[in-house]
Amino acid sequence: MKTELHTHTHPYSSCAVDSVETILKAMIRAGYEAVYLTEHERVWTHTELRLLQQTFPSIRIFPGVELSLDPAGSTHMLVLGTTDQEYIWLQYEPEAVLQKARQENNLTVLCHPFRWTETPELLKYGPLPDAMEYRTNNHQGDMAQRALLAARKRKLPLVNSGDIHAARSVNRFYLETEFPLEHPCDIRPIVMGGRYTLVPPEGAEPAPEGTA
Ligand SMILES: [Zn+2]
Ligand SMILES: [Zn+2]
Repeated sequence: MKTELHTHTHPYSSCAVDSVETILKAMIRAGYEAVYLTEHERVWTHTELRLLQQTFPSIRIFPGVELSLDPAGSTHMLVLGTTDQEYIWLQYEPEAVLQKARQENNLTVLCHPFRWTETPELLKYGPLPDAMEYRTNNHQGDMAQRALLAARKRKLPLVNSGDIHAARSVNRFYLETEFPLEHPCDIRPIVMGGRYTLVPPEGAEPAPEGTA
């Protein structure tokens, strides 16, 4: 199943350019079958998601959130499969976030780990999330190469994501899961069990931006 794990939309994420409707339309055109909406420090509610799902029945729309783990905002983590606001209150306590996520079967992903820092504290001292981003629209080349080495050393699964902020950046970096995602939490066993492939595969060139 063609799946996006990391999506920002305007206006819920101030850095996003396009509305959720514009981004979902671009994803549907590009053949995506599932998407996680992961705004900065904001979760979509059940009611909002139900309405959105009714409008766009051809793609599965799942909840998540991107947390800044420190006040400087230099380390980010996705929590996938949840609409629970409590994650936002816990954002500066990575240990508590990871413990809650394990209990509730929410997948945690360290985002763009080498985008702004040499080595994120979380990789130096733990606790470790379930997985780590490899390549995204904002994390390629040297940064991705360092993520590859860091993940191998720690035996962490790597995922590709779009880190989508605009419709033009869909269809470049994503996952193909071996099994269909039925429920928001289905992504965790799929990633932990390695039942997915990276698109593009390791080392291969992504499609140019704007080709959706
Ligand atoms: Zn981020
Ligand atoms: Zn992001």
